[in-house]
Amino acid sequence: MDWSQLRADFPILDQTVHGHPLVYFDNAASSQKPRQVVDTLVRYYQTDNANVHRGLHELSMRATDAFEATRKKVARFIGAAREEEIIYTRGTTEAINLVAGVWPAQFLQPGDVILLTGMEHHSNLVPWQLAAKRTGAVLKHIPVLEDGTLDLDAAEVLLTEEVKLFACVHISNSLGTVNPVKELVAKAKALGAVTLVDGAQAVGHVPVDVQDIGCDFYAFSGHKMCAPTGIGALYGRYELLEKMEPWQGGGEMITTVTLEKSDYKAPPAKFEAGTPNIADVIGLGAAIDYLENIGVEAIQAHGAELTAYAYQRMAELPGIRILGPEAPRGSLVAFHLACAHPHDLVEFANTYGLALRGGHHCTQPLMKRFKVPGTSRASFYLYNTKAEVDRMMNILHQAVNFFS
Ligand code: PMP
Repeated sequence: MDWSQLRADFPILDQTVHGHPLVYFDNAASSQKPRQVVDTLVRYYQTDNANVHRGLHELSMRATDAFEATRKKVARFIGAAREEEIIYTRGTTEAINLVAGVWPAQFLQPGDVILLTGMEHHSNLVPWQLAAKRTGAVLKHIPVLEDGTLDLDAAEVLLTEEVKLFACVHISNSLGTVNPVKELVAKAKALGAVTLVDGAQAVGHVPVDVQDIGCDFYAFSGHKMCAPTGIGALYGRYELLEKMEPWQGGGEMITTVTLEKSDYKAPPAKFEAGTPNIADVIGLGAAIDYLENIGVEAIQAHGAELTAYAYQRMAELPGIRILGPEAPRGSLVAFHLACAHPHDLVEFANTYGLALRGGHHCTQPLMKRFKVPGTSRASFYLYNTKAEVDRMMNILHQAVNFFS
């Protein structure tokens, strides 16, 4: 596989920033989109655009076919048993809010435990805090060890029959840690808990099989895997989705409506009120085609190679502290340089055309845990190259000289 050839599919990469070739290492925040995805969006708007499901005319039928074909693709891509288990959402945040906004009110009692971890993104913390406030449930967290992995001994103690909901990030966006979600889900399920996995940094980066993981819910965002912004999905085990009340009410999700009450459609329609984000769903389908054509396992191997290379080279920098285990890790390296605040470092890098991200990465409790104000993060995807890592290293060495 000639990875540098792929770059032709991403014209955005071929530009200079402040007179330097752009090095885009902010993929954990959002990936770039290949021509194939952008072309699909343009083609949809130019030839097929219409509302889905309700129409009996040609354009509506074409739009509906493409919209529903993507649902099948997503189901296959993440190993769901059936396409009705895929609910389109704006992304991971909305998917988790859907579950946290509905399931706890029906199934949690005061004193029940919601077990999370200390490395969750705010989008897998705040919705559960809101749910705990509404239901009287208690929040507990599996601590994070100094090496950036979960404290599995503490998890054994925390996983009791009082835990009714367990939610955990698959790959940490701030540490790169790959969590043993299959094992943790199995333990939680054996105690009768419902389980949710945040797959924002996993889908499109590593092979994901929700049935193998065994979780009840799995959330991800399209924009981190070559698809447009504003589209993602929630996988939910069908029996659970059937038992859950709707989240939002409106058109599309009902069978009959009177002035007093309504009957709802079966999942997934029950959870998709209103006109959906049709174009971006179809764009998500194009992104899955693109990634599958290359092969997710190959993408994972490329990411692992770049990350291992970057990790080794970055470890050379004086005063650097890299968070998270050396391996296995997702395709990112988050670090703190003793000589510079992450925001200053990221601004310095930008003047050389290098796009990093600096700050708390929506994981404030984790920053507190590691006693850092924030970190700088380089995150990689399929179009990145070792030559770009070398360019980053030159810039980071200059930064160390500049700030020291
Ligand atoms: N969880 C993780 C681990 C993430 O990295 C992100 C995105 N930074 C999210 C959740 C939220 O995703 P989105 O903003 O696309 O809803």
